[in-house]
Amino acid sequence: MSEKFDVIVVGAGPAGTSCAYNCAKNGLKVMLIERGEYPGSKNVMGGVLYRKQMEDIIPEFWKEAPLERPVVEQRFWMMDKESVVQLGYKGLEWAAEPYNNFTVLRAHFDQWFAQKAVEQGALLINETVVTECIVENGKVVGVRTDRPDGEAFADVVVLADGVNSLLSKQLGFHREFRPDEVALTVMEVINLPKDKINERFNLEGNHGTTIEIFGDSTKGNLGTAFLYTNKESLNIGVGTTLSSMIKAKLKPYELLDYLKKHPMVRPYLEGGESAEYLAHLIPEGGFHSVPRVAGNGVLVVGDAAQLVNAIHREGSNMAMASGQMAAEAIVEAKKDGDFSERSLNRYKEALFGSFIIKDLEKYKDAAHTFETYPQYFKEYLPMMNKAMSKFFTVDGTPKREKQKEIMRSVTAEKGTFKVMQDIYRAWKAVK
Ligand code: FAD
Repeated sequence: MSEKFDVIVVGAGPAGTSCAYNCAKNGLKVMLIERGEYPGSKNVMGGVLYRKQMEDIIPEFWKEAPLERPVVEQRFWMMDKESVVQLGYKGLEWAAEPYNNFTVLRAHFDQWFAQKAVEQGALLINETVVTECIVENGKVVGVRTDRPDGEAFADVVVLADGVNSLLSKQLGFHREFRPDEVALTVMEVINLPKDKINERFNLEGNHGTTIEIFGDSTKGNLGTAFLYTNKESLNIGVGTTLSSMIKAKLKPYELLDYLKKHPMVRPYLEGGESAEYLAHLIPEGGFHSVPRVAGNGVLVVGDAAQLVNAIHREGSNMAMASGQMAAEAIVEAKKDGDFSERSLNRYKEALFGSFIIKDLEKYKDAAHTFETYPQYFKEYLPMMNKAMSKFFTVDGTPKREKQKEIMRSVTAEKGTFKVMQDIYRAWKAVK
């Protein structure tokens, strides 16, 4: 294995495969190393794959990729113990080309995507763990693996090894992430016949729905749950920041069990059979946690660079886009024959000029705000449910009086000034 490559990519998730695909397409000699039995075998995702960033890599990929359903409806639930306030959008323009996004099962999708990189000429090596980067004279020149013939060399090593990247930590690119910078999420795939899914979610044909669930789904802690439709299964999952889990002494599997038994959720799952149970971390530190992403002979992409927008549950698209930007920087560096940090910083410039860092910057204080002030999930969501119940209950009270009563009950509980302060703080965090 001690052959020399132009590029070695560590990790065949969306970030690594995107980078390998784009490098190979540009004629570079690429090795893509994956520790799993096959790409996707170790990967976990709620399941929404965004069309735009994938299409930038493989036009009209939906004609051949293993996708579950095009998503035509996105719902948001603000859930209390026995009620839910709903918000959402359904649009049939999302059911036709060019689509908006799709549900996917990563074990299928990642394999297909990696095969596409192989077709472009990348060499895919599975069941191989990269244990460290080989550094000579301050430059990364290759990787050491757990194989007997364990070393491989390249002009550039791309670290796409996912959240909590041990390899970039070894290089000193980031410290150990704090418990409030990562979310622990558990999910289950539940098999259910297609007609039952369509009936329960009010869907036709292969159309899909996503539901993001806030509030009682995490027992009022900072985090979310999700329920997504696949062809013949549902993905259901829940997660909170690790710090919330520790503080509230939550056990992830108990939280998922609680969610599955919740009276608002249970009817969707009834009769389904559990097919898979998965757990994974999500990097949610956002803008403030993005580590160093370029060094001499090395780049960091995807979750390894903390590129996840938790508020919009975007991660796979940021992974793919960052992998593509890294590939573009490597192609330019190859033309110049210069793989120094200065040259590879083209990637950093592209990343910071793109929607990825702009979006992370927009929400840079959101997680901290909602974790520091737990009243948003713990108090306001139940209040919102009570207000809706009161407003829609027909009991002979004139509507204007009802409105006043609702306002009075909110301000009586918290005080007008406090409510105004909370609204302003939340607006500032997401504006
Ligand atoms: P990964 O997908 O984690 O891939 C890293 C790869 O590197 C893996 O294949 C791993 O096996 C391999 N690897 C790691 N270390 C080594 C090593 N030392 N040697 C060799 N190989 C190694 N994003 C969305 O866009 N939509 C969603 O709906 C969504 N839902 C999510 C739900 C959950 C429960 C979770 C956990 C995440 C979700 N995300 C979602 C985020 C999304 O999954 C990630 O942002 C995305 O997978 C990041 O891709 P990546 O390639 O950077 O990392």
